[in-house]
Amino acid sequence: MGFNTVGVVGAGQMGQGITQLVATRGFHVVLYDIDPHALEGAQEQITGGLNKAVKKGILTEWVREKTLKNLKITSKFEDLGYCDLVIEAVPEKEEMKLEVFEGLEEICPESTLFASNTSSLPITRLAACTDRKKQFIGLHFMNPVPIMELVEVVRGWHTSDETFDQIQEFVKKLGKTLIVSKDYPGFIVNRVLMPMINEAIFALTEGIGSPEDIDKAMTLGGGHPMGPFALADMIGLDVCLDIMEIMHSEFGESKYRPAPLLRKYVEADMLGKKTGQGFYHYDDPDTPKSLK
Ligand code: NAD
Repeated sequence: MGFNTVGVVGAGQMGQGITQLVATRGFHVVLYDIDPHALEGAQEQITGGLNKAVKKGILTEWVREKTLKNLKITSKFEDLGYCDLVIEAVPEKEEMKLEVFEGLEEICPESTLFASNTSSLPITRLAACTDRKKQFIGLHFMNPVPIMELVEVVRGWHTSDETFDQIQEFVKKLGKTLIVSKDYPGFIVNRVLMPMINEAIFALTEGIGSPEDIDKAMTLGGGHPMGPFALADMIGLDVCLDIMEIMHSEFGESKYRPAPLLRKYVEADMLGKKTGQGFYHYDDPDTPKSLK
């Protein structure tokens, strides 16, 4: 059975991108957030994103109009109650995610599938707070969602083949490439990516190089499309810290300890692009970054 209506919980960076992508592909989307400002921002970002895509010739006017019609942006949690699939994209804090799924469990029909966009939390443990462990799956989109090609799918201990097949079909309809990861902290992408970003921050702390030089080392020398500091600023330094903390506590190994300088930036509310200041500063998100 295909999905008709998809719910998205959390209208931050990822929720916005997921909503835009899914609505563009012809699904009805209900986007919910507890923060009305986040919903206003999402409406603006999604409309802006669609306009840009039309200007670049990626989307037609017709698709833009249809996408906007497919969208319902709401501050009423109950509006998620008629979705066939709900994708959770609230911050990377286990207690927040559990609260969302416990709430969804009460309002959604038994047939609804639950997915988490978590970057690193165990899917099996998130699923355990619901009575639909077979219909629970990790659906990890990459940032920026409309552009990045990959979706990492994570099967929890009890995820059924039927759920996996439905999600596989859905990812195909989104035009993305799917990889499957076992339910291990950080899955595949962040297990490899985050320790690299964290190590770059240790290297900066030790004075080995500036953020610009370390980024150049990895782009021009390592063949990466973005350097670790530019990428960390785009992901959000709070998200990077949460992921390192989860991997550190789950594996119990010192190689995953977050760099103290990363923690300092988060404490100072310098979270990267989203606050206008991280390892680089951003006068305007659309203009090139400049060094502090
Ligand atoms: P974000 O901070 O930009 O957005 C989170 C949103 O959730 C905010 O708008 C907040 O108001 C909302 N929220 C908080 N509690 C809520 C609740 N109870 N109900 C509804 N909304 C609630 O975070 P983000 O960067 O979009 O990350 C969201 C998730 O996606 C995290 O699990 C993160 O690890 C994962 N993720 C992030 C990236 C990235 O590059 N930022 C990439 C892949 C996955």
